[in-house]
Amino acid sequence: MMPRCETIFALSSGRPPAAIAVVRICGPSARSALEKLIGRVPQPRQAALARVRNPANGEMIDEGLALWFPGPRSETGEDMAELQLHGGHAVIAAVLDALGRIEGCRPAEAGEFTRRAFANGRLDLTAVEGLADLIAAETPAQRRQAFRQLKGLIGDRAEAWRQQLIEAAALVEARIDFADEADVPEDLVNPALHAVRRLRAEIATALADSGRGERLRDGLVVAIAGPPNAGKSTLLNRLARREAAIVSPHAGTTRDVVEVHLDLDGYPVMLLDTAGIRDGTDPVEQEGVRRARERAAAADLVLWVVDASAVGGARGEIDKNIAESDVWEINNKLDLVVDKLCTRSESRSHHDRAVTFAISAADGTGMDALVAALATYARDYFSATESAIVTRARHRRALEETVSALDRALSEGESGREELIAEDLRAAATTLGRLTGRVDVEDILDVIFRDFCIGK
Ligand code: GDP
Repeated sequence: MMPRCETIFALSSGRPPAAIAVVRICGPSARSALEKLIGRVPQPRQAALARVRNPANGEMIDEGLALWFPGPRSETGEDMAELQLHGGHAVIAAVLDALGRIEGCRPAEAGEFTRRAFANGRLDLTAVEGLADLIAAETPAQRRQAFRQLKGLIGDRAEAWRQQLIEAAALVEARIDFADEADVPEDLVNPALHAVRRLRAEIATALADSGRGERLRDGLVVAIAGPPNAGKSTLLNRLARREAAIVSPHAGTTRDVVEVHLDLDGYPVMLLDTAGIRDGTDPVEQEGVRRARERAAAADLVLWVVDASAVGGARGEIDKNIAESDVWEINNKLDLVVDKLCTRSESRSHHDRAVTFAISAADGTGMDALVAALATYARDYFSATESAIVTRARHRRALEETVSALDRALSEGESGREELIAEDLRAAATTLGRLTGRVDVEDILDVIFRDFCIGK
């Protein structure tokens, strides 16, 4: 654990210049820092007009609002002060510099405010993750899921399960400890096992969401694939450009795959442009093809683009390796096809592998229907996520381990070995405790807080 005597401060609002900048101060010296900077301490939780001065020479730096949140009823559980200043580089630099010269104050590390909130029991670990997701949320559906998690959707449930497991374990242990005493009921183990069976079913239901809560964090993966020159990049650009809500176009992790994040009807979609899939002899190209195939094979949906104007084999066959994903065949370059009779087929279901569209990525023909079908696909895919509580692989692992421990307890139950049942129930409760951060989580904290920014 970090030493708790230090007072930390940081710019908590976005990058300057901006209209307003928020500087937060947290820790035992927050009060005196506020007194030094603005000459007084405002009423708790009430905004007060304040002149901020450099304590070293009395020079006025800025005028803004000051707030005082005495612990433990503050966001971090410790004394906190907040200054709302004009958001210019020089103003912020002067205030941060003045704070750095105050005894006991130092700049905060990334995520340190939230880490203190966790250490002081203001947030459990799943809420910390929800907060990180809320800050990262790019679409309304992601925002809703993150907010639910921040407010305890999985954390409260896991804590309730843990309490019930501890009670069940206590019943079994009572049976062991007082086995010989006449006034202890014979049957404590069966009620415990009954509760365990019910809990196991509840946790298994939460796990049976086919990973949609996790997928909502990253986006539905749609890969654009097909032979070279079919028009994949042109299609990607058109999809990216016509969707006003693109959030963060950026180059992919390899130079062979370009990723674009789209917001389709509020749902996140990650569009991948894979390098032209073909078997070349150049080893570098082969590596690109291999990566492209790998990404396409892991996609939820593949838009297999072919040049409809090309004749015969040049149109390309759907790659066998991507046959596991849903595949829509996109006949592109419709403008070059003299006989335009090959318009979209009747089939709309995305379970049907025969979905085909005819478009011209160059002039935009057929794009409305394609975009509408993609939006419907995303909506259908995510329709069950409103109830999903598992949003990270970490949660899934913890719940799976819990279920395994409960299964062991139930099978011990059949053989009547009470010590072993109690041990398995304790193990299951510990696993749930790690999920919310109640027990023994030092090792995973750094991983979780790594994603946070300074000032949060
Ligand atoms: P990729 O290799 O599959 O990414 O293909 P590109 O998007 O780079 O396109 C290959 C060539 O086909 C480029 O010259 C494009 O301008 C052209 N192209 C793409 N889509 C269309 C289309 O719908 N109609 C026509 N006429 N040309 C297109």
